[in-house]
Amino acid sequence: MKAVTQQPIDLLALTLDELKAFVCELGEKPYRALQLFQAFHGQGKTHLDQVSNISREFRACLSEAGLMPGLEIDAVHKSSDGTRKYQFKTHDGHTIESVYIPNASAEGRNTICISSQVGCAMGCTFCATAAMNLTRHLTASEIVSQIYLVQHDLRQEIASDSRLLHNIVYMGMGEPLHNYDNVVRSIKLLTAEHGQQFSSRRITVSTSGVVKNIVRLGNDTDVHIAISLNATTNDVRNDIMPVNQKWDIAALLEACKAFPMEARRRITFEYVLLAGINDSDDDAKRLVKLLRDFRCKVNLIPFNAHPLSPFKRPEQDRVLAFQGILQDRHMSAFIRTTRGDDVDAACGMLGAKKLADARGSLPIIMG
Ligand code: SAH
Ligand code: SF4
Repeated sequence: MKAVTQQPIDLLALTLDELKAFVCELGEKPYRALQLFQAFHGQGKTHLDQVSNISREFRACLSEAGLMPGLEIDAVHKSSDGTRKYQFKTHDGHTIESVYIPNASAEGRNTICISSQVGCAMGCTFCATAAMNLTRHLTASEIVSQIYLVQHDLRQEIASDSRLLHNIVYMGMGEPLHNYDNVVRSIKLLTAEHGQQFSSRRITVSTSGVVKNIVRLGNDTDVHIAISLNATTNDVRNDIMPVNQKWDIAALLEACKAFPMEARRRITFEYVLLAGINDSDDDAKRLVKLLRDFRCKVNLIPFNAHPLSPFKRPEQDRVLAFQGILQDRHMSAFIRTTRGDDVDAACGMLGAKKLADARGSLPIIMG
């Protein structure tokens, strides 16, 4: 085995081909790479010392040449509705979060909502994560580790061979298309042969509208895309989502039209309802006009109020009236129920350090 003098390589972020090249450089046989890949991505091992089928000598050589950046579960907050918010510590001391939502869909599917960045740079005025600003991108291995660690934790309690996670949504902290390369790499690892082989149909990437990477995502992967539209005029969208000042609604919808998709699939448009801002009948009618030519569904998300934002959630009859206008005009429009509210796990509530400080609450200690 050769000594390696280069920078350590993040082993958990490598594709099988890259792992093969890496182990060959160490003077090992290519099948070693398959063993490692299966252990990491098939069995979800996130530490080298959990990998049992390699010799001590090879392990020592690997740990000299490579690194496993080691995300750890820091706390698990269990909501009364079964939702769990996982807090993880990164190797350099940052906190990120994922949310496990059991029975998230009518078919009883379990969903995990994962983070793609520590904080977020996009500055949406209704979102708690925005208040953290961006600290750094997550690596591909930190993105997939969220899933592997949650699966491991669930397995301790749920003695079942059935799939623990059916859907993966990139809707936690961060803007996935601002961390494009690592997000795409993580998707390739999650869907890879010899890994867990998640179906890309069950993976959704949500974006606030980083237009330059929308079509690119469709070309590089087969995942589902969700667009956080949240307004029907540029004036309102400019105010609540600064990204609109760079790529306005017309540019965003043009990219959505060009998004490559199989015939039966649909784009999801997310629409956070903010009382008195974007929830009028006129907004609903404009939304129908904007989306008329799309195969799409609309997810209406009544705003989850928090102390870092001045907005209010509309009354339930306003939410229903808004939905009614869309449905009367033959659009699929769903109201997303809030899950995990009691542990600040609902949409837009991640990044709870500032949130907890603002609430003056102690139980969720982060960072
Ligand atoms: N950055 C990506 C994904 C993470 S945000 C994006 O913006 O799409 C996931 C979803 O939560 C987005 O649709 C966003 O509009 C919504 N959201 C953010 N803050 C919210 C809040 N306080 N209440 C309800 N939904 C919120
Ligand atoms: Fe970032 Fe999405 Fe929150 Fe906007 S809504 S600040 S893009 S996480």
